[in-house]
Amino acid sequence: MSGAENMRAAAEPPQERLTIAAPRLNLSRPRMETPSMYHGARPGWIEVIAGVMFSGKSEELIRRVRRGIIARRRVQVFKSHLDARYAGLYSVSSHNGTEVDATPVDTAAEIFRQVRPDTEIVAVDEVQFLDPGIIEVVTALAGRGVRVILAGTDTDFRGEPFGAMGDLMTIAETVDKLQAICVICGDLACRNQRLVDGRPARYESPTIMVGGRESYEARCRHCHDVPRRDEDQAVLELRAAAR
Ligand code: ADP
Ligand code: ZN
Repeated sequence: MSGAENMRAAAEPPQERLTIAAPRLNLSRPRMETPSMYHGARPGWIEVIAGVMFSGKSEELIRRVRRGIIARRRVQVFKSHLDARYAGLYSVSSHNGTEVDATPVDTAAEIFRQVRPDTEIVAVDEVQFLDPGIIEVVTALAGRGVRVILAGTDTDFRGEPFGAMGDLMTIAETVDKLQAICVICGDLACRNQRLVDGRPARYESPTIMVGGRESYEARCRHCHDVPRRDEDQAVLELRAAAR
């Protein structure tokens, strides 16, 4: 070794071998879902399925619930409703016709009261309609080991955050944001177009107006219309006539 090499060797510390301890896997519990499934080994977490109407949120919630039932988990399904009162059980149904039984609720506290101590999976559809108390409720459920699956429309007809959805997406372990197909241009749709008498609803229209295909369309950002004033309405009509 030359003198210069000797000096360099003395200045450099001996190379250490990096060893990373292998994680201690708990393989006794079966993995339950793919691909958006949270793979924590300890039970208790929150999954959010967000997106516009017609994007397949209910289909995905039903799929996860069915797989939970096949895995012999104790499952309870809830659905917020505002427009009608139901006695006892009713169902979460998707626009393609699949359904599972669900308990209707008006408030987050009702969910908390009705979850049985041995329930392993709690699923809630239309969660955007529930009060902000839902954040505390799902946090408490996940904390005591419940897998919580929430489906909801994340933006209202104006394209603005809907109810507690933003906060729920923040505290969840997994978030799947689904898109529908824009009925105007065929691109991916991320907005709910509300229609009143076939025309785009105005910005001042109430946030909650329950309806189906007759009142809502899935549209992309560029085809989404939310007129704010009468002048805007006139411009929109011209644009619609030109299409
Ligand atoms: P969400 O719960 O998000 O409203 P659903 O699960 O109830 O959605 O329905 C999804 C189904 O809706 C699709 O599988 C498809 O059959 C149907 N559908 C109707 N209109 C559209 C659209 N514009 N884009 C995509 N799917 C649509
Ligand atoms: Zn479009």
